[in-house]
Amino acid sequence: MTDLPHGFLRWKSYAEFAGAQALLAQEWRGQQAFQQQWLANARERVLGGWCAACGRDALFALDGAVGEEPNWRESLTCNHCGMTARWRSSAHLYALLAGAHAPGPVYMTEQATPLHALMRARLPGLIGSEYLGPGVAGGALVERHGLSLRHEDVTALSMADASLGAILSFDVLEHVPDWRAALREFARTLKPGGLLLLTAPFHFGARDTVVRARIGADGGIEHLLPPVYHGDPLSTDGVLCYQEFAWDLLDALAAAGFARTEVISCWSAAYGYLGGVHPFIVGWR
Ligand SMILES: [Zn+2]
Repeated sequence: MTDLPHGFLRWKSYAEFAGAQALLAQEWRGQQAFQQQWLANARERVLGGWCAACGRDALFALDGAVGEEPNWRESLTCNHCGMTARWRSSAHLYALLAGAHAPGPVYMTEQATPLHALMRARLPGLIGSEYLGPGVAGGALVERHGLSLRHEDVTALSMADASLGAILSFDVLEHVPDWRAALREFARTLKPGGLLLLTAPFHFGARDTVVRARIGADGGIEHLLPPVYHGDPLSTDGVLCYQEFAWDLLDALAAAGFARTEVISCWSAAYGYLGGVHPFIVGWR
């Protein structure tokens, strides 16, 4: 098993996490104290640290007005490479796990983002895609916003069985109503020993996924909770969040065919990953 640097923690199950809650609460108070003290003392909202995306000492700029709760995950932007904390930690963790997965092409469920550009420079042959609407054939190239983008529906991928070494899916699965079908497709297309590295809203302290919206019997969207929209690189309207995951996502991964699952969390002042812990859901085929 790959050793991870300080700040990254591996969790096998909800039970393991629940058993460590007292310890985590203490650690979390320490993290909160660090963040509050830094916010109070920083003359400019800029944190010094090591950027794992561009591999050097950097300054991370926190967005947002003084007095408002900052969006730690979507800012703390590196002064060299422009990557946010979310992008930096995602690229970082993949680099740490890359040597452990089956060889083969890497597929990323995004293509029109700075993170895809960064990964593409590192991984020749990286496959990227966007969802470009119903009626487009999987694997087809479509001109959109001056870019030539590959269309894929993650619930019906065009890739062959057992053809991929790794799949990276960052903040996509919460927008897919039939997310279990997407997990089955990820399992189908990965080689034995292949890696799925996934992020999505994840309730660390909860067992059960929260369904916010679903597709009703009439094919329309049925809202069970007030709608929440996330940013979308291809549209200014944003994209609906159908669900926020919890530990039962690991059970769903096992049911889809993943041999081993875990959650890897990270929080690190040295790397500029602040806010709550950043959870990554990991499946090994
Ligand atoms: Zn950087």
